[in-house]
Amino acid sequence: MKLVFASNNKNKIKEIQLLLPKAIEVLSLEDIGCFEDIPETADTIEGNAVLKADYVTKNYGYDCFADDTGLEVKALNGEPGVYSARYAGERRDSNDNMDKLLSNLEGKSDRTAQFKTVIALNLNGKQTLFTGIIKGRIITQKIGSNGFGYDPVFVADGYNRTFAELSIEEKSGISHRGLAVKQLVDFLVEK
Ligand code: IMP
Repeated sequence: MKLVFASNNKNKIKEIQLLLPKAIEVLSLEDIGCFEDIPETADTIEGNAVLKADYVTKNYGYDCFADDTGLEVKALNGEPGVYSARYAGERRDSNDNMDKLLSNLEGKSDRTAQFKTVIALNLNGKQTLFTGIIKGRIITQKIGSNGFGYDPVFVADGYNRTFAELSIEEKSGISHRGLAVKQLVDFLVEK
């Protein structure tokens, strides 16, 4: 089965390929000749996942899945949420985003947070959504060099290492995206 994953993020494609059965051939946006920026203008994580999957299916005719993720921090009323990628501005710089987050959390005692991933799957004319959540906390400094995004400041519940200190396999096994992808895989295997 050929399925487009509406992404060109090599880290994410690698993570997802580790989790999907080999019978499912994942094509990236580059693989189908889609080089334009897909609009991500919704104001919810769910909405952006649906926008991206629908864009590929409508314009390129492929069955497709798309994911959207946000880091939701309790003391910041769920921010940065859907704006996680551009929290500190349109440069979408992870270090700037983490600096802004750490600064906004200065002096706050509640540092609980969660990553949430929603996957929208368009398959045979039907749309299905899958949600994965991992709860944890934001520490006070950046630690570790693996992963991407907010990984160096996020520690999952039950762990004492940040996501950026885990191997890609360890992280995929427990992460928001891993949990959402597991539901996607179970759904595809049952089909
Ligand atoms: P996206 O929807 O997967 O592109 O994620 C939006 C933003 O959330 C990214 O630009 C990152 O800043 C952050 N993010 C998503 N997934 C992760 C993750 O696994 N670890 C750390 N940050 C992430």
